[in-house]
Amino acid sequence: MSTDGGTRAWIEVRAAGLRRNLRTIRERIGPGPRMIPMVKADAYGLGVAGAVAALEPEDPWGYGVATVEEGRQLRTLGVTRPVLVFSPLPPGSYSAAVEDELTVCISDLEGLRRLQDAALRHGSTARFHLEVDTGMGRSGFDWRRTGEWRDAVAALASSGSLEWAGCLTHFHSADERHSAATHTQWERFTDAVSSLPTPDGLLVHACNSAAALRCPEYAADAVRPGIYLYGGSAGQGLPDPEAVARVRARVVFTREAPPGGTVGYGATHVAREWEEWATVGIGYGDGLPRRLGNRGEALVRGRRVPIVGRISMDVTVVDISGVDGVAHGDTVTFIGPDGGEEITVDEVAGWAETISYEILAGFTPRVPRVWVDEGDS
Ligand SMILES: *Cc1c(COP(=O)(O)O)cnc(C)c1O
Repeated sequence: MSTDGGTRAWIEVRAAGLRRNLRTIRERIGPGPRMIPMVKADAYGLGVAGAVAALEPEDPWGYGVATVEEGRQLRTLGVTRPVLVFSPLPPGSYSAAVEDELTVCISDLEGLRRLQDAALRHGSTARFHLEVDTGMGRSGFDWRRTGEWRDAVAALASSGSLEWAGCLTHFHSADERHSAATHTQWERFTDAVSSLPTPDGLLVHACNSAAALRCPEYAADAVRPGIYLYGGSAGQGLPDPEAVARVRARVVFTREAPPGGTVGYGATHVAREWEEWATVGIGYGDGLPRRLGNRGEALVRGRRVPIVGRISMDVTVVDISGVDGVAHGDTVTFIGPDGGEEITVDEVAGWAETISYEILAGFTPRVPRVWVDEGDS
């Protein structure tokens, strides 16, 4: 996929930046813990094929996804490493998980039974990790009631066709500074795990990007970084990630606007004096948040310019008054560096009153993802 003059909007993704962000986490946790990069939601919207190609040279232990379909996609790409499916499965998809040799994270006895049934039907052994809910509350066995499920899990796990390969939990506030909750969750988790009749060689893991960077002492046997790899901040006081995604689009029209001239639906921006506007070929139909209308910025020739008026489905207008030489076909940057300036994905998330994850995952299939790998420096 090239980005010649015919491409109206695209996301350029830098493989080397992704790898450097992974290495920042590696330096923090040391050489011991295994790396399970999260590539769910099409690698946080940036394209899973490109992400896997970028990450393979780092020799990760495995990959993390949310759904069985995402796991299958990795197998189709030729990934033979362990693939962990983290979200609870709908009842009908255990069979497909077994078929693709995915490792399923189990939240209850019913799930474990379904997995065993699927494995028996396939005549194979299904690997699972047991999730302990320590406060996230969306999935996992309850840490307060280990006595109620411990023996049943152990009995099922040793009754054939199942391999108990790991235990995990998930922190809810590791992105926050001085969060006592993370320590509390860790204690709940380790208490629960130590009371279980776990098999040898069990993989114990808990840390997302924020926890791996903030509490490397909880890295245990493996970490599961996501957002930081893709250039999103993991939280206050943590090292900034290197930019990975650059969201760009082309100027498709320019005009001089006289005083009183209006732009966009609702005519919410009115030129006070003569202004120069550039219409850029990206809109909310591409995933650029509509909330950026009249509050976000873009980079044109390395300078910050305001987005004026409401964002349309297909185009966005920026005020380029005072930026000389802007021409039809020029590139405008909405996320990422341009010249000496940079708009981070977290800055955009702030304007849109959301988080970097939602911004990245929100870009639509209309926008090509163009991976560039210039090697490591
Ligand atoms: C998404 C996810 C992660 C990664 O979290 P980040 O905040 O993106 O680093 C880790 N573990 C689980 C279970 C997840 O669902």
